[in-house]
Amino acid sequence: MGIRSDEFPDGDRLPLVEEFFSLQGEGFHTGKAAYFIRLGGCDVGCSWCDSPFSWNPGLHPMVETDAIIERVVDSGADSVVITGGEPLMWNLSHICTELKKKNILTYLETSGAYPLSGEWNWICLSPKQNMPPSADICNVANELKVIIQETNDFLWAEKYRLMVTGNCRLFLQPEWSRFKTIIPEIVEYVKKNPKWRISLQVHKYMHIP
Ligand code: SF4
Repeated sequence: MGIRSDEFPDGDRLPLVEEFFSLQGEGFHTGKAAYFIRLGGCDVGCSWCDSPFSWNPGLHPMVETDAIIERVVDSGADSVVITGGEPLMWNLSHICTELKKKNILTYLETSGAYPLSGEWNWICLSPKQNMPPSADICNVANELKVIIQETNDFLWAEKYRLMVTGNCRLFLQPEWSRFKTIIPEIVEYVKKNPKWRISLQVHKYMHIP
């Protein structure tokens, strides 16, 4: 992959794929403005991944974390979503600490396949079957978001519902390319299992990043 996260153990540089100020389109915080930071690097290998361009961190510049933080502050955003790729391949302690000093909320989107770093205001755990998450991250997730591609995925979702805490918000999200086929099943499932809510990728309908 060209670069490895252990070459940057302090998290003072991060492989930046893209950054933008937009609206959260998925899960519990849907509709809220947030500054998005997409980091490179992921070896989870989901067949339906909508950001495979992020997998190889070597294709993206190692950017000074403090420079990213400055741009967040300049944007006026009050919260940051760090996504990927799999952002926990990198040490996220520095970026979280510095954002917190500036009273900016820190939200994480992760598969949970790597150890947790950083202090977070919100952790959205989206487990993937190729590389299941650790029990540690299940214990601290604020939100469980399971991608539903086929009927068997409901069983997978229930397995992880039992591993997160009772306070964790539960979302089922249709895999985008199977949306038309799978959404009637999700609707029926949520009606029968009202602990779950549906999450739609509304940013894709709005044609915003
Ligand atoms: Fe793509 Fe996320 Fe799966 Fe990695 S974990 S392959 S970024 S969907």
